[in-house]
Amino acid sequence: MLTPFTKGDAFDGDSDVLAGIVRDRLPDQRELVLITADSDFPDSLRGYEWPADTHQAGRAVAATGFLDEMRDAGLADLTAKAVDLVAEGKGEQRYEEATRDLGRSAPPTKTGSGAGSESGSGSGWWPLVGVPVLALTALAARAVLVRSRKRSPAVPQLVFATARAADEAGLRRRAEAEVLALGEATREADVAMTPGLQQALDAYAAAGKVLDEARGLPDLAGALALAQESRAALTGSPGLPLCFFNPLHGRAARRSGWRPLGRRDRLDVAVCGACANALRDRRAPEVLTDTDENGRTVPYFEIPATRSAWAATGYGSLMPPSAGLGRAR
Ligand SMILES: [Zn+2]
Repeated sequence: MLTPFTKGDAFDGDSDVLAGIVRDRLPDQRELVLITADSDFPDSLRGYEWPADTHQAGRAVAATGFLDEMRDAGLADLTAKAVDLVAEGKGEQRYEEATRDLGRSAPPTKTGSGAGSESGSGSGWWPLVGVPVLALTALAARAVLVRSRKRSPAVPQLVFATARAADEAGLRRRAEAEVLALGEATREADVAMTPGLQQALDAYAAAGKVLDEARGLPDLAGALALAQESRAALTGSPGLPLCFFNPLHGRAARRSGWRPLGRRDRLDVAVCGACANALRDRRAPEVLTDTDENGRTVPYFEIPATRSAWAATGYGSLMPPSAGLGRAR
């Protein structure tokens, strides 16, 4: 995904947000390696993968920018090299090798004048000529960033990988980016060619309002569900809503019958691949929880439908999310 980033764009200028959205749009893709432009360091790349750390993709892609041979490479060559290194599966080792000399020697300049004897690590993203000190600082800062990213358990890309790890701030940013992108899409829509435009605009407005007033994960997930409803209306392809059991799992893959605890009738709900497998194996799916009136943490759909728009709509499985907003909340 070699899209340029700017502050305030649809991804808030953040490759982590882009990666999260792309991941979300590919619910059936169990394994995914994603290479994006790096939002912190222009002309360099960043790697993501799901499940985490299976190919050492993050480090492999990070190493690409530090290789001597990639010093003058363009984005296409840099990407090809990154793909090679990910395929090789030794990202950790390659990264250590590529950054070993950082801080010991100055990076060479592209002009070559007076730099011939230096043997530092070059980099494909290296845009500066004749400002080696500044550039070295940037290189070192980047190495530190990449390292600290590795060490911290709260790596942004993992936030989106599992609903359990979804923290509120990350989800809020993602929902904001989604609503922002949707606003652009509705503005660009051709009135004559988009029969669902009014419905799309209504759901878009509702998504913005829910986002503004969101008090926790269930509401933020609701904003995502409304955004999904709006996008479906805009493109004229309804498709399936988000996963009923946990909308943070992304778009559902199929519909499935499910009998809630203590009820005789079965509900027809849309579920993601993982939740469908859980139902098939008679395991409990991983559900999104909410807080009931007694302060207990319960599956969100066990909150009375009169009190929760999300319980009433199942985030789109039982009725369109926008239809539930007038009735509850
Ligand atoms: Zn699911």
